[in-house]
Amino acid sequence: MHNCLTDIDLFPFNTLALPGRAARYLRVTEAKQLADSALGDRYRFILGGGSNLVLTDDFDGLVLHMAISGRELAGEDAEAWYVRAGAGENWHDFVQWTLAQGWPGLENLSLIPGTVGAAPIQNIGAYGLELAERFHSLVAFDMNSGQTVRFDAKACRFGYRDSVFKQEGWHLEGRFAITEVTFRLPKAWQALTRYRDVADELASRNIVDPDAQQVAAAVVAIRQRKLPDPALIPNAGSFFHNPVVDVVIADRLLAAHPGMPCYPQTDGRRKLAAGWLIEQAGWKGRDLGPVGMYEKQALVLVNRGGGTAADVAKLMQAVQRDVREKFGVELTPEPIILGAH
Ligand code: NAP
Repeated sequence: MHNCLTDIDLFPFNTLALPGRAARYLRVTEAKQLADSALGDRYRFILGGGSNLVLTDDFDGLVLHMAISGRELAGEDAEAWYVRAGAGENWHDFVQWTLAQGWPGLENLSLIPGTVGAAPIQNIGAYGLELAERFHSLVAFDMNSGQTVRFDAKACRFGYRDSVFKQEGWHLEGRFAITEVTFRLPKAWQALTRYRDVADELASRNIVDPDAQQVAAAVVAIRQRKLPDPALIPNAGSFFHNPVVDVVIADRLLAAHPGMPCYPQTDGRRKLAAGWLIEQAGWKGRDLGPVGMYEKQALVLVNRGGGTAADVAKLMQAVQRDVREKFGVELTPEPIILGAH
């Protein structure tokens, strides 16, 4: 197998900075390396930026670290630019590059951590835009069959922070290694500024009719203010999904908590803000041992130094318990929880 290393420390490869080792590790810089590794290990994990990952143990399988680079204009027609990037490209750098080329459309997704290849798996989204709206297709290597497969948007079955890769559990099995993603950026562009934080930030800069670069700058400023930089305070981004509940439950909660954020979904249900629920349950800025919920955004679990998987589990359960007791709402963790295999 190509340059496969053994007994590798995963500490530098997870932004929550938890300890853990991989029995085998391969840095994948070209798709053709995958064909050889497909034959070997039964247990595989496909690692991107490690920004949505909780390591609970040493991993006794093969970690495939996706580092395929490259970005290019794959095509253009009257309606759109088609832009392709390797799975290992840093997401934010890629977004910035598209904007610098004069291809707007991804600006609301600025500064989301992680890689291009990981982005479709959870259909990343922010400030009223999700990846699915700018997605064209992706190429993945099926580690089970050894085939290269192209997925269009329909095949990806995108949902709210969700896709077929999660629905089928393929991301946990390490089945499909996404090698490249192509985006469709429509030439008819309009700024998406309906989220209050974005509108307020632009207003504070006296910008009435923003261009894509100005929207990106506003999003970057908001995120830098609210979210901890993993290089300084290790974290894995939003730690819980925003719960989506039936309207009856939402109405009952609103009657008891009139200030509760609550957003109608296209399926008639209501989306609640996990961060608000956590804050109301008393966890904003509160620590349990070396880990805690971040003081500026309660949805982010931070490792203040030396935290272990057991510390994370204890805090996660305490937050879930208190939100359940106060609101009767179940919070589910968003990051991938990776155990022995
Ligand atoms: P926020 O702006 O404080 O909003 C809290 C919640 O309210 C979010 O879940 C957001 O839904 C919802 N919301 C706010 N304004 C809304 C509107 N006008 N219409 C519908 N829903 C609205 O959220 P935050 O925690 O600081 O995060 C900012 C943005 O980054 C959010 O969009 C969040 O989803 C996104 N984010 C994404 C990821 C990811 O892709 N993994 C991780 C972290 C944060 P939505 O979640 O539907 O936007």
